[in-house]
Amino acid sequence: MTKIGIIRCEKNEERCPMTNCLKCLMETREGFADYEECVPVGVFTCRCPGDNFSTLVRTLKAKGAEVVHVPTCSFANKQGGEWFLGDGLCMKVDDLLERAANDADIPVVKGTAHLPRDYQPEVVK
Ligand code: SF4
Ligand code: SF4
Repeated sequence: MTKIGIIRCEKNEERCPMTNCLKCLMETREGFADYEECVPVGVFTCRCPGDNFSTLVRTLKAKGAEVVHVPTCSFANKQGGEWFLGDGLCMKVDDLLERAANDADIPVVKGTAHLPRDYQPEVVK
């Protein structure tokens, strides 16, 4: 049973209650398809400029998270009902993940729900 933390972006915290993120986690689909079983440990919201992102990852780890995911909308955009890589909510998501994975010594994964076609969730360690 893999314990998962999620860090969402503040830019859509009042528009999306992470319905599909949580559904995919519970059903081990899309960004969570590599896990046999998984359970949520908790969710945090990142706030610009993201200086506390690593602290949030460390706290999720302290609460038991073995992996932290960032939602697909952080790095992908929706056009005509389909999601495409790029133009997501966060322009520096790769830097945040790189730093956090090093600081917290825990894998951070790009992707949760509605992955862009042919995209394999990128694991930053
Ligand atoms: S990835 Fe989709 S379901 Fe998850 S927070 Fe973003 S828009 Fe909502
Ligand atoms: S730093 Fe990125 S992920 Fe964090 S709130 Fe700002 S845009 Fe969103």
